Amino acid sequence: MSIWLIPIALLVLSVVGSIALVAHSAATRQLSVELEREKHQLTQSFHYEAEGLLGVLSRDEGLGDLVSGNQTRAERERSLQNLLLRQDLDYAILVSRLDGVTLAEAGEADVIPQRARAALDLVDNSRMRGSEGATIGIGRDARVMQDGTGLLTFATLPVGRNFVLIATRPINTLTLRRLATMLALPNLRVVPGRSPLETSLPIAGQDGRAVMSVIWDPVREAADILRELALFGLIGTCVVATVGVLLFRRIRRSTEELLHREAQASHEARHDALSGLPNRTAFIDALKENMEHLPHLDHSLAVLLLDLDKFKDVNDTYGHAAGDCVLVEFGARVRPLLRQTDVLARLGGDEFAVLLPSARSHLDATRLAQAILDATGRAFVVDGIDIRIGVTIGIAIGPGDGTDSATLLRAADTALYRAKNDGRNRFNLYEHRMNEQERMRKLVDDELRGAIERNELTLVYQPQVHADTGRIASVEALVRWRHPVHGMIPPTTFIAAAEERGLIVPLGEWVMRRAMRDAARWPKLRVGVNVSAVQFRQKDFVTSVMRVLKECAVQSLQLELELTEGVLVEDADQAQAAMMELRALGVKLALDDFGTGYSSLIYLRRFAFDKIKIDKSFLEQMEATGESAILVHSVVHLGRALGLEVTAEGVETEEQRRFLQAVGCHLLQGYLFSKPVPAEQLDELLRSEGDISRLPPRQIGAA
Ligand code: C2E
Ligand code: CA
Ligand code: CA
Repeated sequence: MSIWLIPIALLVLSVVGSIALVAHSAATRQLSVELEREKHQLTQSFHYEAEGLLGVLSRDEGLGDLVSGNQTRAERERSLQNLLLRQDLDYAILVSRLDGVTLAEAGEADVIPQRARAALDLVDNSRMRGSEGATIGIGRDARVMQDGTGLLTFATLPVGRNFVLIATRPINTLTLRRLATMLALPNLRVVPGRSPLETSLPIAGQDGRAVMSVIWDPVREAADILRELALFGLIGTCVVATVGVLLFRRIRRSTEELLHREAQASHEARHDALSGLPNRTAFIDALKENMEHLPHLDHSLAVLLLDLDKFKDVNDTYGHAAGDCVLVEFGARVRPLLRQTDVLARLGGDEFAVLLPSARSHLDATRLAQAILDATGRAFVVDGIDIRIGVTIGIAIGPGDGTDSATLLRAADTALYRAKNDGRNRFNLYEHRMNEQERMRKLVDDELRGAIERNELTLVYQPQVHADTGRIASVEALVRWRHPVHGMIPPTTFIAAAEERGLIVPLGEWVMRRAMRDAARWPKLRVGVNVSAVQFRQKDFVTSVMRVLKECAVQSLQLELELTEGVLVEDADQAQAAMMELRALGVKLALDDFGTGYSSLIYLRRFAFDKIKIDKSFLEQMEATGESAILVHSVVHLGRALGLEVTAEGVETEEQRRFLQAVGCHLLQGYLFSKPVPAEQLDELLRSEGDISRLPPRQIGAA
């Protein structure tokens, strides 16, 4: 019961209680007033009764004959009898003073002498005694007395000079009924002795003591009504209060039920039935709400879209029940990785999403993504069967990747799409350039082929200098697309697309031809050419290289092919064969981007490289962590131990240069020395160096 109902109930009860009390006391007061009135009226009535009798008797015509003295005793007896009948008397006695004789006539002969004696006593006393209070004093010559069987009303009437008439009328049923009707006292009757009832009037005998009592049933109209009202009021209030409380509880219960059902319905509308996680609607609402506050906050917000890998296989192989178990278990594994305020939702099928409303940096999101990958990597055990799945995650960070929920979700979706393309079971951060890449992909699709024909491609050359002397030892050819509309397009944006679209072969051939043509201008300079894996795997790759060298009249010695691990992964034997062939021809082979793959050492041992190029990401990280410095040191050391030439890419600072020189790196390439430049500009660079007539000495590797 709610807390405010108790004081209200107490208030109502106390008000009703007070009313009942007031009513009760008023009723009690009214009762005693009424009782006094009834007693008074009754006393009065007895007086009237006696006096009325006297009046009636004195007016009776037969009385004259009776007291004339002319009648014989028998005649007098008859006259008295008539009077008895006429006046409804109990009995009548005529006392003659002259002869002192009592003439008595009555209904019942045996009681006459007694009554007569009593009457004569009265006459002898010649006065009527009355006492106040409990005794009814009746009239001058009338009083009430008891003769053992009933109450009698005496009327003593002096008739003429010599006679006294004593007549009694019984207080019989008839009289009582008449009085009762007159006074409206129900059930008026007599009982012996003094009655303990309130509604009683004691009747005194000759000695003044109460011998009988007139009693009646109480009539307590107003009082009774009030009392009943009070009682009913009390009962009524109790009933109303009880009903009220019950009703209130009922209403409260049904309200609670309603609220509960409403809450349940809204919960169901916003939650996924299988996993119990918030659904898409709830997730988007949460995202929108958090995006609104984002401009006022100093942290960012991250959205992770999770897509289970190979989930369809789980359903197909083990059945939907097993699939459901995996989905639920997946949710249960991810949830503990999140903070309370983070939201994990199931968007549908095998798609989930996580919202990090307050990410300090993208690291929060990527760390979580890695943790999710790890958690998903453990086998899902369903009915004793180990089920293995993966998860692919696309991440977008707001407000950088989008200031509204729709844009941010689209960004996360793009990142997810990319991650799937990149091989699944991994995560990808959305980067603006992803959209750019999409656009490029289309551009490459539409225009790259034509670009080669229209001669829109061009090459730039970046020198590699001796670490010790700073002189140019070789150059790397890097392709550019001079687009009539988009300007200079870097290779990172179109090489991958060209590979996908099968355009890398013609593009690679063009680069090779162009580079070798230029190389002819620098007969003693080694020129590095990047070769993509797809290109290298072409059956006639070696043949085509030979053809170009011949065509351009360039010594194979001048050519250095920069290969990545990707070249060697797919068909290692074929790659090895091609490499041996090339080496036999005198072409140099460099392992590009060394350190970005995972088993470079194996390749170094197995394949006949002349050179390794330490990826520029090492130098980038060297600044930040210091750990890479040790790695670079070891790699240089290793390269030298294997008799390989070591080049470091991406040298930008003097500090890096000093370090690389100190650890024994042979060649350095980077913006510190020169950006990639067009052939004409390279001509100038070589000229300014004065002596361009040397190839990097072969023995450098051993130095
Ligand atoms: P890569 O082979 O690792 O080439 C080196 C990249 O590092 C070049 O970018 C170069 O401009 C850049 N670079 C040089 N020095 C510095 C430096 O000090 N700091 C920084 N931050 N970067 C430096 P570029 O020219 O954009 O080429 C990117 C990638 O495109 C190359 O990476 C290569 O994998 C590929 N590529 C370029 N040209 C060709 C080509 O003709 N054929 C093929 N298959 N791939 C090519
Ligand atoms: Ca390269
Ligand atoms: Ca590289």
